[in-house]
Amino acid sequence: MTRDRRSVVVGTELGADGRRLVGRDPRKMDMEELRALGHIPMSPISALRTNCISCCGGSTDEVRKCVAVGCASWPFRMGVNPWRSVSEGRREAGRRLAAKRAEKIARAKSDLSAGQQDDFHRSKPREQPIS
Ligand code: SF4
Repeated sequence: MTRDRRSVVVGTELGADGRRLVGRDPRKMDMEELRALGHIPMSPISALRTNCISCCGGSTDEVRKCVAVGCASWPFRMGVNPWRSVSEGRREAGRRLAAKRAEKIARAKSDLSAGQQDDFHRSKPREQPIS
């Protein structure tokens, strides 16, 4: 069985008429089945961008220059959702959170390093007096 044939089997099912194959509902598929079809986890925005690149024969430059302004993917073709703007307040909150996380990681690394040094000193053989 070729890969394409296998993909058709995994990605399709019999339609309501019991004769024609129709695409399966991805909401009812597990990740392994999606991977078997060649899909990889990605955000919807990345999927739109990937589709645009495919639409333009692999040229990101052509995607940038696309004039099909009526296409539903057009606003998303650069891989960003222009309908979502991040307020300066949220951006600042994100920066604070990132700084807190970095501080926490640095502290954990420092504690780990100190613990390893303690272990080293504890495992060091003590000098025995010569009798
Ligand atoms: S916006 Fe539409 S027409 Fe333009 S590259 Fe994307 S999919 Fe193709």
